[in-house]
Amino acid sequence: MAELVDGHGRRVTYVRISVTDRCNLRCVYCMAEDQKFRPLPHLMTREEIARSARLLRSFGIEKIRLTGGEPTTRPDLPGIVSDLSAIGFPGGLALSTNGVLFPRMARELLAAGLTRVNISLDSAEAEHFRKMARRDHFQPVRDAIDLALALPFEAVKLNAVVIRSFNDDQVRPLAAMTYDKNLHVRFIEFMPFGDNEWNESDWVGWEEIRGRLEADGYVLSSVQKSAVAGPADEFRVVSGRGEHRGTIGFITPVSDRFCDSCNRMRLTQDGFLKGCLFGHSDVDLLRPMRLGATDEELSTLIRHAAEVKEQRHPMFVGMDRARLPLHGRNMSEVGG
Ligand code: SAM
Ligand code: SF4
Repeated sequence: MAELVDGHGRRVTYVRISVTDRCNLRCVYCMAEDQKFRPLPHLMTREEIARSARLLRSFGIEKIRLTGGEPTTRPDLPGIVSDLSAIGFPGGLALSTNGVLFPRMARELLAAGLTRVNISLDSAEAEHFRKMARRDHFQPVRDAIDLALALPFEAVKLNAVVIRSFNDDQVRPLAAMTYDKNLHVRFIEFMPFGDNEWNESDWVGWEEIRGRLEADGYVLSSVQKSAVAGPADEFRVVSGRGEHRGTIGFITPVSDRFCDSCNRMRLTQDGFLKGCLFGHSDVDLLRPMRLGATDEELSTLIRHAAEVKEQRHPMFVGMDRARLPLHGRNMSEVGG
């Protein structure tokens, strides 16, 4: 099997495929209340996703994450998972979801071959949730977490973006959820994106979050990462209550750039292979596919997309947002 190595010598083993830019929430850090979506014919079909995934697998891609937008808004999501499962990805098939519709298809997704679930929850309280997501769907998301934990998925993770004076008081209650649940809670540094209202003063770095937990008596010890792991640094936890069942993690794109060990690429819902969340060198696979490109021609495009993958993203502590070379897409349009 061929390998996909980028122009900086890093092997790509993990691809996040966005299946839609649509969403049933409007998280303040991700999209505008009046977000415009792409016309449906611009999205990859189930067959186009499967064909792309098959080609990616022929380059040794080991792990796929399905994301969006909100992937569960696509009724054919279980079919997509079953196609990918038939191709066979040894590092597993993961899903990022806001959880709202997840309970309706959780069993079908599990039966289709989904192995891991990440659910976004930025707040442990309904009122806070409504402020962040601009929708009143807190309880369905809590139910989704309980259901995901009750089903035999390999791992259930919870993702929380932390914004100062908005939900940073939720760090403690979210971290506490790891005590009696086999739940892996990861705090994500807020990133400037598209037209979101990012300000450095709103940003909370991972060291501050860790410091707050340690001040509460949490002792964190590092967990070894697997070769196909995502960007989070994960820690086992002991607190005054004893050892926690779950872990705590930090995703630190701004304060501690993890680009040197980046193993990821993204396929957007409209079929662009993207080297970097913030990259400008996207390679269109969908248009050539629709114009009749052969597998060999598409493979050449995949190799090219890896060759032009950016070395690092442009964010750093102290950056001036106005000077960042951001592209116009929101996180939901790239596939977070
Ligand atoms: N809708 C699904 C969800 O919310 O999990 C999947 C797509 S969402 C774009 C994927 C992840 O990106 C979520 O965990 C979300 O919190 C994160 N995200 C979105 N905008 C972000 C931003 N500006 N900074 C940091 N993380 C962000
Ligand atoms: Fe939707 Fe996920 Fe973006 Fe929230 S973070 S608006 S749930 S795509």
